This record gives sequence, structure tokens and C-alpha cells, in this order.
Amino acid sequence: MNANRPSRRNFLLAAAGGSLGAVAAATGPLQATEDSDGLTVPERRVPVLAEADVVVCGGGPAGISAACCAARHGAKVILLERWPSVGGMAVNALVNIWHTSDRVRQVILGFTQEAIERGGRFVRKLDHYPKRYETHEFDSTGMRVVFQRMLDEAGVRTFCNLAAVESVRIGERLAAVLVDTKTGRRAVRGKIFIDATGDGDVAANAGVPFDFGRKSDGGVQGMTMMYRLRGLNAAEIKQHPQDAERVFQLMKNSRDEGNFPQFLEAAALSYLKSPRDPIVSYNMCPVAGNPLDEEELTRISHQAREQVYRYVDLWREQMPGFEEAHVEQMGFSLGIRESRRVRGLKTLDAQMVVQAEKHSDAIGHGFWMIDIHDPKGSGHTTWVDQKKEHSLPEGQSYHIPLGMCLNATIPNLAVVGRCASSTHEGHSSVRVQTHCMVMGQGVGTCAALSLAAGVDLAEFDVQKLQTQLRKDGVYLEDVP
Ligand SMILES: Cc1cc2nc3c(=O)[nH]c(=O)nc-3n(C[C@H](O)[C@H](O)[C@H](O)COP(=O)(O)OP(=O)(O)OC[C@H]3O[C@@H](n4cnc5c(N)ncnc54)[C@H](O)[C@@H]3O)c2cc1C
Repeated sequence: MNANRPSRRNFLLAAAGGSLGAVAAATGPLQATEDSDGLTVPERRVPVLAEADVVVCGGGPAGISAACCAARHGAKVILLERWPSVGGMAVNALVNIWHTSDRVRQVILGFTQEAIERGGRFVRKLDHYPKRYETHEFDSTGMRVVFQRMLDEAGVRTFCNLAAVESVRIGERLAAVLVDTKTGRRAVRGKIFIDATGDGDVAANAGVPFDFGRKSDGGVQGMTMMYRLRGLNAAEIKQHPQDAERVFQLMKNSRDEGNFPQFLEAAALSYLKSPRDPIVSYNMCPVAGNPLDEEELTRISHQAREQVYRYVDLWREQMPGFEEAHVEQMGFSLGIRESRRVRGLKTLDAQMVVQAEKHSDAIGHGFWMIDIHDPKGSGHTTWVDQKKEHSLPEGQSYHIPLGMCLNATIPNLAVVGRCASSTHEGHSSVRVQTHCMVMGQGVGTCAALSLAAGVDLAEFDVQKLQTQLRKDGVYLEDVP
């Protein structure tokens, strides 16, 4: 199937004389009947917008990695992204730190390393590399361009501004996802689908079971509005550490009296004491809610933007060196950490993380700690509060298994990134971008190789997959 041939939509446009109005008219308005609970719309034919071997839904770090790696191994690939650009949270929520090291050596390489190198001047190696988990920071605006270049060079056909809104099955297999274009609903057909939506939209709509939130009350991790400042007077700030403490105390007191919004304490004090250059995203503005409820998401996103100006207004007024501080950028989206977790053949949990568990179907390594931001939005990381073991020993890492991306319901659907199969606790480790890119590379490669071999994803010889991943630069050691 040639994904690059003129699309069906273009064909329709041509048939209709190139006029969008004519296409809309050809589709016709939807006549429905209604009752008190809703509307009944008639069956209608959905034209095919495009088709490919592999359809990746969601253009965050996981989806980009999956799409590039599938395409490089010979698959015709389409990437669908609902926002105006690819990059997901890394770009559109200003989340700009990558973790590649187990604190002794770099153990996430492969596609992630390539993104680091392709990022060039937009990516900076941190001074303490590789002694901390965090090894690189990047300019989100620059990486927006770099990610798209990487997709284009791999031959991925990218459609932004299109959300996969429905999943269409024929029998047990996924046949298409439906998208809403400016000229009506269309289908995108594929042989294999990869759900990289972060929210597990495609899998959930296709009927794959999923979990949401923690066991006790169903709450998902708190969200954060990231922002960047300009106009700081670094020399002035450094001369006033006592003022930083005073302003911090003022924030705490006002908050406790109910006159100031929540904030992440440790981060706020550190930002007040040490000026950050404009590439640094301030990660201190927490809110809580349900990321799958659009109205609530709208409300809390606005609340978070208001909170950012409350912090900055106070700092401009009270903190020497912040008088000319301006918000240069805020996340286009609220930073969302956790949403649906689609149940897979394997489910990553806290013990698998902290005990550095190894798997025969490993596709790469992970090492980030159990890092749960309070679902009530206080900004605290709750696992640490409970004094439970939350980190792996230095120099150790766990395996990210292919099984957490495959499921028992739909053989031609995989899930990568933060919506892959994990418990609330396991998720809080594997959600970081580098770990999501590991999943993307493993699954994207598996998709292309299994198509070439004529077998389903779960049937492909995992040792052959691992051999290919190593050839492609993935660090993959200690496979049992
Ligand atoms: C505040 C905050 C700080 C964080 N700090 C770090 C950090 O320092 N380092 C780190 O590595 N990670 C960090 N994380 C976690 C990390 O950013 C995310 O978990 C990671 O981006 C997940 O990658 P992903 O590709 O799975 O999902 P996302 O980055 O969320 O990408 C999903 C993409 O899918 C698109 N999409 C959604 N639904 C649809 C649909 N139906 N159809 C088509 N497209 C769709 C979205 O628009 C988005 O572009 C942080 C997260 C937050 C919120």
C-alpha cells in the first residue's frame, strides 16, 4: 500500500472541482432524531482520507519515536496529531528535561540519543552528566522543528490538527480510526495502529480495558502549568538570599491563610534563590483534576495560568532582581502527567521498578524513581511522604517490557508512552519522555518487522527484535 500516493480526499476534492463547499455539500448535513438522552444519527459512508501500514496516533515523544522507527524499517507510516505541531508535552507543555542515566552511565540511547544529537544547539548536556538521572535540557521551541524534521526525513506522513476520535473494528482487528477534518469525518486505515495519545484514546475507544487513577480514590497525578521567565537581574538576585527566604515565607503564609495559590515549595525557593536562564521551564504551578473532562480541563488550565501571574506579580513586587520579570511563555497545554493506563499483557508496577526487574521481552531500560505528584494538587510528591522505597540503587535499571505495550484484545494495536500498561505507581516512573521513547522505538520497530514477516505484533520473535534494536543503538543488557 503506498501511503504517499494522492489521497482519497484529494481525489474527492478533484471530483468536486476543488471546491471545499462542493465537498461539504456532497457529504450533506446529518439528519438525526432525538430523545431526552441524546441523538440518533443515521449510518453514513465515511470516505478514506489516507491509509498506511502503520498508523501512529499521537505525536508526543513516544509517537514520534514509534513513527520514525517503523518508517526506517520499511513501513509506510502515518502520524496523526490533534495539536498544531508534534512534540506532545515536551513541546506544547514546555517539559524540557531528559533523563538518560542510571547515575553511573547513560543507559538510554537509541532514538533518544539521536534526538539529542539532532537537537544540536537546542539541546544542552547538563554539567553533572552522568551522575544524575537528568542529563539534558532542551529548548522546546527548537525541538518542535527538529522532531518534525526527523519525521519528514524518515518518510512519515504527518497530519497535525487531527484527533483520532473513534476506533473502528472489523472483528477483533482495528481497521481504521476516524478523524474530523474541516470538510467532514474521514477514515484513516492501517494494518497496525499504535496508540501514543497519552490518554489511551484509540485503545479505550476500541474496547481495550484500561485503568484510571490510584486505587484509593481514582485520582490521577497532579498537573502543572510550566512557564518561562525573562527579564531577571541575576546579579541582583544572587545578592539577596535573605529576601528569597522572606518572599518564600510570605508565599507560604498567604497560601496557608487561603490568600495565595498552591505552589511546589522546593522548586519555588530554588527559583527565588538562583536565577534561571530563559531556556529553563519553571515547574512549580500545580493543579488537580480529570484530564479527560474537557470542561474541567479548561477551568483548571485557566486557573493555572492565573496562578502563574499571582507568583510573578508577587515576585516583581517583593523580590530584588525580579522587578522586570515577564512571563515569556506558558505551556500551550497544561502539563498532564497521568490519564488512562491501557491494560496490557504485562503491567509495570512499583516493585518491578525499584527491584530493577529484568524481562525476556525487554525493549530497553528505565530507571526513573516512583514519582507521584499529589493527585489533590498540593504539588508534593506523595510516595516520598509515605517513606516507601522509591528509587533504584545507583547504577541499576529495570527493563521496559514489550508486553506492557501489547494487549489481549486487539492483535494489531499497540500502546506506547504514558498510557501503556502500568499501575499508578509504576506509571510514575515510566512516564518520563526518554522511557516513552524507548517504548516507541521498540514498538515501532516491532510493527515494521512483524508486518514484513507477516505475523502479528505479539507473535514476532522477540530475540530478532532485540537484535535489531541493539543494531539501532538501543542499550539492552542483562536480558534473561
Ligand atoms: C509538568 C510535568 C513535568 C514533567 N517533567 C518531566 C521531565 O522533567 N522529564 C521527562 O522526561 N518527563 C517529564 N514529564 C512527563 C512527560 O513529559 C510525559 O509523560 C511524556 O511527554 C509522555 O510522552 P507521550 O508521548 O506518551 O505523551 P504526550 O507527550 O502527552 O503526547 C501525546 C500526544 O498525543 C496527542 N493526542 C492526544 N489525543 C490524541 C488523539 N485522540 N488523536 C491524535 N493525537 C492525540 C497529544 O496532543 C500529544 O501531542 C513531566 C510531565 C509533566 C506534566
